[in-house]
Amino acid sequence: MKYVCKKCENIYAPNPEVIKCECGGALWLDYEGKLKKSDIHQNDFTMWRYSAAYPVKREDVKISFGEGLTPFSTIDYKEYEIIVKQDNLMPTGSFKDRGVAMVTNYLNNLGVTKFTEDSSGNGGSAFAGYCALGRIDCKIFVPAGTSEGKIAQMKVYGANLVEVEGTRAHVASEAMKSIDGSIYVGHNWHPFFVHGVKSVAYEMWEQNGFKAPDNVICVAGNGSMIIGVYLGFKELLDSDEIDRMPKIYGIQADNYNTLYREFVGDDIEFKPLPTIAEGISIYKSTKHEEVVEFVKKTKGKFISVTEDEIKNALLEIGEKGFYIEPTSAAAFAGLNRLIDEKIIDKSEQTAIIISGNGLKATDKIMKLL
Ligand SMILES: *Cc1c(COP(=O)(O)O)cnc(C)c1O
Ligand SMILES: [Zn+2]
Repeated sequence: MKYVCKKCENIYAPNPEVIKCECGGALWLDYEGKLKKSDIHQNDFTMWRYSAAYPVKREDVKISFGEGLTPFSTIDYKEYEIIVKQDNLMPTGSFKDRGVAMVTNYLNNLGVTKFTEDSSGNGGSAFAGYCALGRIDCKIFVPAGTSEGKIAQMKVYGANLVEVEGTRAHVASEAMKSIDGSIYVGHNWHPFFVHGVKSVAYEMWEQNGFKAPDNVICVAGNGSMIIGVYLGFKELLDSDEIDRMPKIYGIQADNYNTLYREFVGDDIEFKPLPTIAEGISIYKSTKHEEVVEFVKKTKGKFISVTEDEIKNALLEIGEKGFYIEPTSAAAFAGLNRLIDEKIIDKSEQTAIIISGNGLKATDKIMKLL
């Protein structure tokens, strides 16, 4: 295995100290998983049942909550049948656990005992939880003003928190600077992270009767969920387990919509404004070009939604029994647009991923009521 930069084609040997390319580009793991139905470990009821397609194999997994296999259930939604992938029910309450489980096990097996992460909340909660389970020392840089639910969660797990004023990018650069003997594991950079997120694609495929849905709706900040969904289904396509890719719809908030702007050809220099969707307040993805390209390849789209649309979507889906994070509600605001603008059809199968649990953002949700 090796790390590759898609910008300058530099190659690196995987090493815990190497997190990004000298040119500033993101590194990708040069690894293509293959997965056949017959490769599934039938008695393993976690994301590791698809371990044949992962760079860390299930026999090497030492730190696990038994993550994965979240419910995938069909609901009536505005005269459509929508399938809801409930990653709000992951062990620390967000889909980030998929990627963090992969990164943590990879590094733990190499003997790394101190992690430094930066996060707007859920990446940090996930690393804090897995580090608590694996008795790894964990330091997390968070933007000032992060939801109290996530801060409380990280503190209870015993992580060492550093609140930083300024933009999300500034928080990341502070984290990278202060690596006093610890390894920077930033989930937006670590090449193993997206290989854990891929599991959500395999699960949807299996839970859907070994078929790809026609459409998959993902909220998009750094775009790791989009990348995971893309890579997972692409590997299934290359393994002849599905015959076409689902269209991927990436949903962003108007106040932070660089991927959308790139997709529609608008200027990507703009002044971001605060958004209630804190998990996607990322000015520019570390894998900006690639995320846009992946969505285009599936013939999907990016959609950008207003703060009001996000708030309304949160309350609307709440009335159907799903208590979700405002960040995740952006996906439903996008679904509303896809329906209103007749971009998706009732005859198609549409899946939507709930990325995070509402209980993490109680303070923000209270203000909506
Ligand atoms: C991190 C996060 C996102 C955004 O995911 P990306 O992979 O950065 O696009 C969406 N929702 C929640 C709840 C998150 O924690
Ligand atoms: Zn490079």
